[in-house]
Amino acid sequence: MNSIIFALLKPNLAFTTCKRLFATAKFHTPRAEPDAHAFKKHKKHKKFPLYEGKPLQLAPKVQELPKQKFDYFLVLDFEATCDSPVNLDPQEIIEFPVLKINGATLERESKFHSYVKPVVNPELTDFCTELTGIIQGVVDNSPEFPEVFKNFQTWMKEEQILDTGAQFAFVTCGDPDLDYLLPLQCQVSEISVPDYMKQWINIKRSFCEIRPYTWPDNLSAMLKYCELEHIGDLHSGVDDAINIARVLRDLAERGHVFTHNGWKKT
Ligand SMILES: [Mg+2]
Repeated sequence: MNSIIFALLKPNLAFTTCKRLFATAKFHTPRAEPDAHAFKKHKKHKKFPLYEGKPLQLAPKVQELPKQKFDYFLVLDFEATCDSPVNLDPQEIIEFPVLKINGATLERESKFHSYVKPVVNPELTDFCTELTGIIQGVVDNSPEFPEVFKNFQTWMKEEQILDTGAQFAFVTCGDPDLDYLLPLQCQVSEISVPDYMKQWINIKRSFCEIRPYTWPDNLSAMLKYCELEHIGDLHSGVDDAINIARVLRDLAERGHVFTHNGWKKT
């Protein structure tokens, strides 16, 4: 009987040992700009198509891109610590990607991307790794939020976004990134949220502003309606930002002029 139980436990023991070794593995070579895919865990559950919705006919494409109100769009998509069925409190930002999109051409000009080491719940849950593809070794070897946020602001200055009078707007898929996650993280890190991150363009709301004025369930739905194929992994922050930027361009090609449509309620 004991040998049967041992045989049943053995694969689990092997799995736990491997997992522990993998989770504590250190990456000794520091990377100036982490490659989003270098340490990614392969996600088996991603099947295409990601969204099966009813067909929707969007407003047709126009001849010329309309003039936008902003010099730059900053497409942002945080990933944060999480668990299921009971979520973590507080959730902490673990991936911070921002794409700088030229407001006139809707082309990408630059990218800020950093992983972030959580401090309240430093150990990622299996649920979080499965959802985001981010493994423990990546966050263990990343800077904490205050340093990442400082690096982000330095990048904004280097890119002539801050302190130049340039008009810019953050673009997110949904409100939580800037309405919930950033304020919460800033509270944990005891830093203040800059005023320019207290308003944003929620691309889902923008999507509703064009014909046939339909609320999209998620990013996959918007991609499908825009007839764009999904690139990369869903819930990888940088891949999500890339896909949001593609939807942004597609809506602009359909004649949409973006305005702020999300604000931090005080
Ligand atoms: Mg995401």
